Amino acid sequence: MKTNFDYELIVIGGGSGGHAAAHKAVSLGLKTALIENAEELGGLCILKGCMPTKALIETANRMRIIRDAARFGIKAAPPELNLEVFRKRIHDLLEDFKNARVSEMENGDYRLVRAKACFISDHELELTDQSGAVSHLTAETFIIATGSTVDIPDIPGLKGTPYWTSDDLRGFPFLPKRIAIMGAGAIALESAHLFEGLGSEVVIIARGEQMLSGHDADLSAGMEAETKERGIRFFNNSTVENVGYDAGEFFLTFGKRNEKLRVDALLIAIGRTPRTKGLGLEAIGVAKEDGRILTDERSATSRVTPATISRLAASRSSRLIPGLRGRPEVITTMSDPEVSSYPLVPTIFGS
Ligand SMILES: Cc1cc2nc3c(=O)[nH]c(=O)nc-3n(C[C@H](O)[C@H](O)[C@H](O)COP(=O)(O)OP(=O)(O)OC[C@H]3O[C@@H](n4cnc5c(N)ncnc54)[C@H](O)[C@@H]3O)c2cc1C
Repeated sequence: MKTNFDYELIVIGGGSGGHAAAHKAVSLGLKTALIENAEELGGLCILKGCMPTKALIETANRMRIIRDAARFGIKAAPPELNLEVFRKRIHDLLEDFKNARVSEMENGDYRLVRAKACFISDHELELTDQSGAVSHLTAETFIIATGSTVDIPDIPGLKGTPYWTSDDLRGFPFLPKRIAIMGAGAIALESAHLFEGLGSEVVIIARGEQMLSGHDADLSAGMEAETKERGIRFFNNSTVENVGYDAGEFFLTFGKRNEKLRVDALLIAIGRTPRTKGLGLEAIGVAKEDGRILTDERSATSRVTPATISRLAASRSSRLIPGLRGRPEVITTMSDPEVSSYPLVPTIFGS
């Protein structure tokens, strides 16, 4: 086995998780490289996740407060959204976040390599850059931080329609009068409250019995009560059976009684799948199940050397537990301040 590696640690994926891990590893004294293949640097959180949604929600919250002003003895005209100003604010904020991150990555303490990584052995990656040029790098230890992609259900009629996912929200295509949201997890609910705040009529259609299934029942009940209180309709135990689209209108058939719904926009938010295809994990014997890398309580994979931090929340504040050096297999992340500890990683909800 080769022991003279190019790097002590290579992080695959330059989202918030990968960047934080690489940055921390350098501070612990490890010679580190980070491999990122996206054309646009920044990762999900900054480009299409936490940052855009929190910026959008700020406007929605302000609109809701203004609508509710009369209750507090304030006379205010019904608020209207200026889409151009709204979009520009989101765009400018995201550019600021992104530019700060790009500058950290490009002038950082680790080496940034722009390429797609694939394992060809336990300690070696094949790297293919955007021009197709191939090179190789070796490392003692790897962190896989390749993120996830949006799940799209296989519903008759859906393909080819202009449905949205959370990836589309940063561009904010238009403000729909009526929107249906498929799913009742954190992203679906955040989006539901976003559009409700902005003034849309919102319907949530979800397969499960309750919102935020898999979370604490009290949390689900509280969320459901607040959601209904705000006038958002919730159809539980319901599957969308068919989607039609014509002249700017979606036609949905859903639920046990084949209910019909007409809306101007459809947002799919039923979940995300780990981005683990094409990494060569099978070739080096890293165990996966339904695309997820199987890990132990320390986030070490079945091959021990590659560890994964992918899909852990609050990656901006992720940290490697001290003790990395000399124990390369023990790599895990927690948030700082420590609101979560692996494997009990709670979802953090924005307001
Ligand atoms: C709408 C939305 C709202 C969210 N809100 C919150 C929130 O409020 N709070 C919160 O904590 N979390 C939130 N999240 C979750 C959060 O965004 C993610 O948990 C986090 O961004 C994941 O970071 P990551 O570094 O694991 O993955 P990513 O940011 O997806 O980074 C993975 C990177 O790996 C690269 N990559 C993939 N394969 C390869 C390869 N083979 N070679 C090289 N590079 C590769 C990709 O190009 C990508 O840049 C939200 C997510 C969404 C979608």
